[in-house]
Formats: sequence, C-alpha cells, structure tokens
Amino acid sequence: MTHHCCEAMTSRVNMDCDQHDDPFACPDALVDFSAKFQEYGLIIHDGGRSSITINFCPWCGRRLPESQRDRWFDELERRGIDPWEDEVPAEFQDDRWLASLAVRSALPWSAEDELNVHVHAEAQDGDQLIDVFDAPSEGGVAVVRLMLVE
Ligand SMILES: [Zn+2]
Ligand SMILES: [Zn+2]
Repeated sequence: MTHHCCEAMTSRVNMDCDQHDDPFACPDALVDFSAKFQEYGLIIHDGGRSSITINFCPWCGRRLPESQRDRWFDELERRGIDPWEDEVPAEFQDDRWLASLAVRSALPWSAEDELNVHVHAEAQDGDQLIDVFDAPSEGGVAVVRLMLVE
C-alpha cells in the first residue's frame, strides 16, 4: 500500500462508496490514484475515464511523488515483456513492482545470484515487509521472486 501525503489525500484516494464500485462513476470521487504509475489525477466526470494529473496535493500542498510511468515501461522491457502484447505480471498491476526494486537495491548482495535466500527486508517505507524467497533455478539461472507480505 502506498502512503499518501496526508490524511485528506488518503481518505480521498481510498474513498469507499457503497453505491459505486468505480470511482469514475461516483460523483463524490475526486482523485484517481494509479498505484503502478504513482500518479494522482483529478477525475473528469464526463462519463469517460479521463483525469487531470496533479503534481501537488490540493489539501496539504505537498509535492506528490514523481510519476513512475516511464520506469514502469523500462522495467517491463528489461524483463522482455511487451505490455501491449504480453500478459503483465501481477506485481506490475499495482505498486508491488516498486517495492521489489527497492528491496533489490537495498540487499547487500546481488539477489539474482543467490539461491535459498530467505530474508525479511524493510522497504523504503519502513513498514512494508518484503519476503524474498527463491524459486527453482532454471537452466542454471537463479530466479528470485519478491513478494509483499501484507
Ligand atoms: Zn458514489
Ligand atoms: Zn496531502
């Protein structure tokens, strides 16, 4: 789960309406947050799915995190995945892919080289526990998967 700049933003992003599952259909919904891209947008209620990206929080005035859209595409490309053609892995549907990158860069060794890795590492946020475990090696290449522990 991404931490937002303030309580007002958190409650806007996580707004739960019992009449509308889709925030774009709910007249009370103001902010659309894309976890995978870390982008905030003001919803345009014209029946479509557009929003206007904002860089500052309308409530506390803080600068919002930088968009990770380019990095998202770069990271998929690095794995040889074409988001338009191939199935996008689950961790890339929300912010878990960012947590994985954060852990990988925080590990004292190259996680890809290790087998039987089982550690708990703290991600950037300090309160997200990430479980790193190994997967069977394929063709001599160790595959390390990172999974968020809720
Ligand atoms: Zn509603
Ligand atoms: Zn705020």
